Amino acid sequence: MKIDVLTLFPAMFAGPLDESIIMRARQAGLLDLTIHQLRDWTHDRHKTVDDRPFGGGPGMLLKPEPIFEAVESLKRAGTKVILLSPSGRKFNQAIARELAQEKDLLLVTGHYEGFDERIRETLADDELSIGDYVLTNGALPAMVVIDTVARLLPGVLGDDESSQDESFSHGLLEYPQWTRPAEFRGLKVPEVLVGGHHAEIEKWRRAQAKARTAEQRPDLLK
Ligand code: SAM
Repeated sequence: MKIDVLTLFPAMFAGPLDESIIMRARQAGLLDLTIHQLRDWTHDRHKTVDDRPFGGGPGMLLKPEPIFEAVESLKRAGTKVILLSPSGRKFNQAIARELAQEKDLLLVTGHYEGFDERIRETLADDELSIGDYVLTNGALPAMVVIDTVARLLPGVLGDDESSQDESFSHGLLEYPQWTRPAEFRGLKVPEVLVGGHHAEIEKWRRAQAKARTAEQRPDLLK
């Protein structure tokens, strides 16, 4: 999969995307990631990307010209352009699975008060929010989307990191798990898990996943 990101803060992306599973996916050619500086598509001496909102109000908005130029130059046939914005539909594992089917994503991140409305209306194929809160800019939301989508790409996770059986994969939270030692400070691992009876373990885990979901996230069971 190819992912391009348009941002005012390319340096924020170094680190989180240069480590561990995502870095290995990039090195293996499973994820082709390019971070672009939006100011590269400005033409004035000050590399201006923002201006005051018509009608007044606090803060500055991202101007249409650099973003239109950038998107038009980066977009290829089949590229899905996604705006990161608190007004978008709320990102979740199901949306991540949808996006993992795409060949080519262009993530457009905002700053200041957000985007001139023409960017939303005309350029975006989709608009995603990572939750009901407001961050200072779209770099962290873009990284959340990249990380979540990339680990779903075939070959990115090894068997022991599988995405088939985890929270949200069956509409439930994951069941509780334990590792060795079987007893730690008097705290014992449930008997059923050390018995080696696979059908019993499956049944128990399913019940635990339902109970945990009912307690922590009843909204998922509706
Ligand atoms: N004025 C905007 C509003 O009230 O919706 C908030 C703008 S926010 C300070 C600046 C940028 O950060 C946004 O354009 C967006 O790219 C990003 N951002 C902030 N919170 C976000 C969220 N929950 N999900 C996705 N992007 C977010």
